[in-house]
Order: sequence, then C-alpha cells, then structure tokens
Amino acid sequence: MEKFKFTCTTCSEVHEGSPSFSYKWPHHYEVLSDKDRKEIAKISDDLCVINDEDYFIRVILEIPIHGFTDGFMWGVWISVSEENFWKYHENFDSKEYEDTYFGWFCNVLPYYPETLHLKSNAHVKPGGQRPNIDLELTEHPLTIDYHNGISWEKAVEIAEIAMHGTKA
Ligand SMILES: [Zn+2]
Repeated sequence: MEKFKFTCTTCSEVHEGSPSFSYKWPHHYEVLSDKDRKEIAKISDDLCVINDEDYFIRVILEIPIHGFTDGFMWGVWISVSEENFWKYHENFDSKEYEDTYFGWFCNVLPYYPETLHLKSNAHVKPGGQRPNIDLELTEHPLTIDYHNGISWEKAVEIAEIAMHGTKA
C-alpha cells in the first residue's frame, strides 16, 4: 500500500502521511469569551462541559481515502447526553467498557458547508482510545464522504485548505 503524500500547490512542500487535523475544543467553547471560558466552562484533552448543561467528548472521524489503508482523520468533538458523558468519564480508563452514544457534531470543518449538528454515533472502545464516530447519511457532503470515501485528489484538496486556509 502506497504512503499518502503530495506536493503542495500552496507552499510547494511535500506533505507526507495521512492527513490528520484536530480541534482542541468544540465550536461552542471556541466562541466563548476568555471570561466565560474561565467561569462557565471546564475542558480537558477529551472532555468539556459548558454551563453544567452542554456536555462534549473528543472523538475521531475517519473519512476513507480510496486506495489507502488510513483515512483522512479529523479529531473533533460531539455533544452527548449528560448521562452518557458521566458514563464515559467514569469508564475512561476501563479495559472492558464498550458503548455507543448518540452525539451532535460540534466543530466547523474547513472545505465543507456548515458541519455543526450533523448526527453521529460514537463507538466507545475499551482501553482509553478515543472513540470513532460514524455519521448519519444525509445530503450533507461530509456525511456522503464518510459513507463513500474520497479520492486521493479530493483528500489533497481538503488537506491543503485545512493546512493553509486556501488552495493555490
Ligand atoms: Zn503546504
């Protein structure tokens, strides 16, 4: 299997390895003022609570790339129910706990039309690995890409935009 790499039309470098981009926090935290971030929110690498009413966990969305083993990886956040949030928290280091949670997609990805609040399911795996999510198939292009996979060319285009904010 070929390794994913491409010569970037924006910066002229060769970018190697499967594209992978992640978000330190959900969009709902991103938009808070510094004061609100301190006063009404709590955040770690994997968990976030806002106002004791919005509960978020960090997950992985993998979009398959045709012809490659590893997909296009997005480290993103979904909002889950309060009950599932605490179950996840309690079992975070568990070697046996497995579960599936419904969640709303909570980041704004580049390239795609508005990605907030797409429907997903997070598959919680034992042993502290971040859960992978699947996306409910709708007319939204991100959900179509998740289900059909993308070509190398499209992966390159999205990667350039995600890296540089633009494509030459
Ligand atoms: Zn580049």
